[in-house]
Amino acid sequence: MIILLKDKVNEKQVTNLTNWLEHSGFQLHISKGAHQTIIGLIGDTSRVDMDLISSLDIVDRVQRIQEPFKSANRKFHEDDTVIDVGGVKIGGGHFQIIAGPCSVENREQIISVAQAVKRGGAGMLRGGAFKPRTSPYAFQGLHEKGLELLKEAKAATGLPIVTEIMEAAHLPLFEDVDVIQVGARNMQNFELLKELGQTRKTILLKRGLANTLEELLMSAEYIMAGGNNHVILCERGIRTFETYTRNTLDLSAVPVLRKLTHLPIVVDPSHGTGHAEYVPAMAMAATVAGADGLIIEVHNDPPHALCDGKQSLTPEQFEALAKRIEAVRPYAVR
Ligand code: PEP
Ligand code: MN
Repeated sequence: MIILLKDKVNEKQVTNLTNWLEHSGFQLHISKGAHQTIIGLIGDTSRVDMDLISSLDIVDRVQRIQEPFKSANRKFHEDDTVIDVGGVKIGGGHFQIIAGPCSVENREQIISVAQAVKRGGAGMLRGGAFKPRTSPYAFQGLHEKGLELLKEAKAATGLPIVTEIMEAAHLPLFEDVDVIQVGARNMQNFELLKELGQTRKTILLKRGLANTLEELLMSAEYIMAGGNNHVILCERGIRTFETYTRNTLDLSAVPVLRKLTHLPIVVDPSHGTGHAEYVPAMAMAATVAGADGLIIEVHNDPPHALCDGKQSLTPEQFEALAKRIEAVRPYAVR
């Protein structure tokens, strides 16, 4: 349920109202938008006397929220959320490219790719240290050592680092990580989401292989219910019957999520297509569709990459693409 306040209301009356609601057992989400202050109520609102609240002179109107996601709902928070990752902003008109290898392989690889993507225009560095691989015999990532190398790459370039967590018990290792990625396979690992909700880290939440947008938003809600509002959503393709691409990149997710939520939306054309040659088209399409950012895999030597080489761009290809993305940005639909 949301309570929309009238323009230019008396602060004291607002505090009286919010205190009363809090004492009545509701968790509040207060959003002071450009036009209106909105008080979002989380909890069992079936017992709320809507007529009583509507009759208060500071209240414009009271409205029930039908959707099961509340904190993530744009009705709770009119304006786009802007997330600041160590000075690098994303959302609300701030566009970022997150680039780097699928996985951190060694010092030379991660540092050289970090420097190259920075030169090319990336705002953040990605790189997996804990890798969710389909085969237990495939490269699983360098684990702690990978995180250390990411920190070195950050020190060398100043780029904030984005890396995936696979289980809550690893959280202490992620202290210096700027953005914690929850991969597609863990989108509905609710215990992990709850733990991340207790942190104040920025979470990049990827859509599951077979999940609806509502389920993605409900997973964001798990994190936000713990008080962590720093959530970035990521469309990375879903599984369909198509086999010429690794996944089917659902670009309609961008305008649909834009309408439903205030959270920043990022698109991953690398996992979305599975082939480096299709990445530019989808990266540009996602930009024009209104995404707040992209996450793109870049490797210094794609044919020899330990993971996802086929879909990785070379640093040169990345740099060329970043320029084309910049050129289409003015046409983005917002
Ligand atoms: C990744 O980003 O390398 C990754 C494993 O992504 P996803 O969870 O989308 O498959
Ligand atoms: Mn990958």
